Amino acid sequence: MKNIVLFGAPGVGKGTHALLLAEKYDLEHFSTGEMLRQEVAEGTPLGLRVKSLMDKGDLVGDDVVIGLIDKALSATTKGVIFDGFPRTVQQAQALDFLLAQHRRRLSCVISIDAPQEELVRRIHERAAISNRSDDANEDIIRHRLEEYDAKTRPVVDYYKVSGLLVSIDGSGQINQTSMRLCEVVDRMIR
Ligand code: AMP
Repeated sequence: MKNIVLFGAPGVGKGTHALLLAEKYDLEHFSTGEMLRQEVAEGTPLGLRVKSLMDKGDLVGDDVVIGLIDKALSATTKGVIFDGFPRTVQQAQALDFLLAQHRRRLSCVISIDAPQEELVRRIHERAAISNRSDDANEDIIRHRLEEYDAKTRPVVDYYKVSGLLVSIDGSGQINQTSMRLCEVVDRMIR
């Protein structure tokens, strides 16, 4: 069973590529960002708690997203592609624990890399079609990229040690990145 973490900065295209991979390899797509936006849209107590953090571009608490992933893992027997999780070293440690509890193991962690200015350009482009409030403001976009540098980038080192990390160039067209991703998945997972 494949369990893949798709890793990368805001705007790199994790959501798009996670959907494509989920379709091609018949995986469940777990996006913590989508799960949280759903909670906000439904006005649940959790949604009300996280809304202002998300609007500012801050990360929400580790316990919140770990709880969502635990619940989602309990609800499927399929392989999973994780999109936007883990985003801190604590979340990465929790994921190891949760996967073991659910009798799964991580197949690979794929980091999609692109230069920062390209990320900002793509987020602006996305803002024109999505109605994500955190995509609409330059300061919030910059803050999300700062959160990524400070809290999420260290997760790369966590996975380097485990030998599960593969980095690919995501600065080109969607179909080029998609081809590279599929090559990695086919190579890492048989
Ligand atoms: P995303 O759709 O992945 O860009 O996530 C949108 C927002 O949801 C982020 O800016 C955070 O506020 C929150 N979020 C999503 N995933 C996580 C996570 N794993 N840890 C903390 N906050 C998260």
